Amino acid sequence: MDIDNLLETVEAKVVCGQCGNQTTRTVAWLKTNGIYECPVCGDEMDLRTQEWTDRIQGYIDACTSIDK
Ligand SMILES: [Zn+2]
Repeated sequence: MDIDNLLETVEAKVVCGQCGNQTTRTVAWLKTNGIYECPVCGDEMDLRTQEWTDRIQGYIDACTSIDK
């Protein structure tokens, strides 16, 4: 399986900072979309912060090591 397919498969938990609602999004989705909108309260979360960039990169690194 190549890396892009893996990123489409692996899901990361996203917790809303406003209402605490938990959903999952694929790593590919997080990588492509810069903003996550909570389906419950509509709050928008910036996925381009350093924290999120590091987290997403961590998933990508994990996927890359699986692939080897
Ligand atoms: Zn919310």
